[in-house]
Amino acid sequence: MEFSISSKEHHMSEYKLPSRAEDFAEWYNQLVIRAELADYAPVRGCMIVRPYGWALWENIQQALDRRFKATGHVNAAFPLLIPQSFLEREQSHVEGFSPELAVVTVGGGKKLEEPLVIRPTSETIIGHAYARWIKSYRDLPLLINQWNSVVRWELRTKLFLRTLEFFWQEGHTAHATYEEAEAETRQMLDIYTDFAVTEAAVPVIPGRKSESERFAGADQTYSIEAMMGDGKALQAGTSHNLGQNFAKAFEIRYLNNTGELQYCWTTSWGLSTRFIGAIIMVHGDDKGLVLPPRLAPIQVVIVPIFKTDEEKPRVMEVAQKVRAELIAADLRVKLDERDGLTPGFKFNDWEMRGVPLRIEIGPKDVANGTVALARRDNPGKEGKSFAPQEGLAKLVSETLDGVQDSLYKRALAFRDKNTRVPQNYEQFKEMIEGGFALAYWCGRRECEGQIKEETKATTRCIPLGQESQDGSCIRCGEAAKEKVIFARAY
Ligand SMILES: [Zn+2]
Repeated sequence: MEFSISSKEHHMSEYKLPSRAEDFAEWYNQLVIRAELADYAPVRGCMIVRPYGWALWENIQQALDRRFKATGHVNAAFPLLIPQSFLEREQSHVEGFSPELAVVTVGGGKKLEEPLVIRPTSETIIGHAYARWIKSYRDLPLLINQWNSVVRWELRTKLFLRTLEFFWQEGHTAHATYEEAEAETRQMLDIYTDFAVTEAAVPVIPGRKSESERFAGADQTYSIEAMMGDGKALQAGTSHNLGQNFAKAFEIRYLNNTGELQYCWTTSWGLSTRFIGAIIMVHGDDKGLVLPPRLAPIQVVIVPIFKTDEEKPRVMEVAQKVRAELIAADLRVKLDERDGLTPGFKFNDWEMRGVPLRIEIGPKDVANGTVALARRDNPGKEGKSFAPQEGLAKLVSETLDGVQDSLYKRALAFRDKNTRVPQNYEQFKEMIEGGFALAYWCGRRECEGQIKEETKATTRCIPLGQESQDGSCIRCGEAAKEKVIFARAY
């Protein structure tokens, strides 16, 4: 469905989203457009990220970048175009990615001697550079990240969740030993987990991927998996131990301290604009987006309320004073000064955009030295309170912390309620209809494939920190040592 928000604003305010219960997919599609996060592009499957969506992405970037730098990583930029032959050097990598490649065959009006691939990911071109940069053990570890976009020719697309081009960060590191590479892989998984929980209020399950779900070219893939509001899973970030696969394909070698030439051990890890999809589907409600305060582009919106020309300047004066005080307290604040729109319209509009806290200021508040506060996580009367203008910044900060906290608790309670341990395959089938099944799996590809065929559920991850247990596979009944999260996934 196509429509322009600005030209039909009044109409749109009366037009409700489909409820999540009634049509989750359509609720999501319309929300992304109406909250002005993104728009469709002329090329099918591409996405325009609108300023509001990009501001959210910038906050995600900053929260991650801070963590990357605190653990010794630096940023750089590698080229968009990769010689096609590079991808062919690592066998499973090319097999995994060739169906999704966009290839440039003409440049400057001439057919190219060697076709160029638009990066689907940058292991190969970075591997090529690392082979030239790394000489000795003193050059290790090499810890580089880049913020960029990549292209994967997806057939079924959905804004933020799966688009031809998407934005992300990709970290690429090289190490002297397997142990160091594995420690790095796990460290980055921990960083993604901490980011998801602390910044996005999204509970995640960190775990190992099964062999069939691994990244093409990795020895081991770890992921964080989140439960969306419809009970389906979303892989929200991945971290790969690439072993020596790329080091051997690209001759990434170093001289160790006894003068022997050794292959490096490499890793890669990424988190993308897909995460915005997770935030929408974990926290959103029937009124629209609900953003965690720590990532929200606008944390507080001030809506002035007045009826007469006489009231207006008095209300606006207080509204501006409140805005200045909140900005001084490092809060991200918007004063909605738009003319000719009713307060009710503005309330709906900011609720659609998920602003965590609304401050209403009317003539009575001006007279009483108060404001009204309305929490987005608890719309309606329950989330509403009145507060003195005096000392408001402190109260607002505390309230935002409270919103952040309650969003996390709510999402966690939902996930726990919908994560069940089946005793048999019949129960398993019921459970994955609306949630996660935590079940023993024998580890055989065959069983995994049958489960997928019969239930559309895939192995999401093997949660970390399990003690070895004696169980039996939910599908075949054979001995199993670990439980796996099974779910239908985005
Ligand atoms: Zn089995």
